Amino acid sequence: MDCIFCKIINKEIPSDIVYENDKVIAFKDISPKAPVHILVVTKKHIASIDHIEEGDKELMGDLILAAKNIAREKGLKGYKLLINVGREGGQIVDHIHLHLISGKNSINQL
Ligand code: AMP
Ligand code: ZN
Repeated sequence: MDCIFCKIINKEIPSDIVYENDKVIAFKDISPKAPVHILVVTKKHIASIDHIEEGDKELMGDLILAAKNIAREKGLKGYKLLINVGREGGQIVDHIHLHLISGKNSINQL
């Protein structure tokens, strides 16, 4: 499958990984829009939030919990979680990911 995030998950292309468990991986955004800009990604390939099903409910919780754990580990006082859905929603990579952004001017950058 020609999915850049699946290639990162499979370590076929390099990334700056900050967190990983059996369900979720997180790595630094290659083009950061804020001082902290991390992508938290499901290891399961799902194209977008528009494609999740009943059986993915726990996985969506894992995604948010991972984001919280990363934020806590980094000592972030506040942060923003963002999920773009579909081209018109600003989604470029068709594999579910959550943007964890924090730092100066992070609020209105995405
Ligand atoms: P979205 O617009 O929500 O689909 O976000 C996709 C994000 O993936 C963008 O912020 C890109 O900068 C980021 N991105 C694309 N390719 C890579 C890569 N190889 N490593 C890390 N981040 C990437
Ligand atoms: Zn994928």
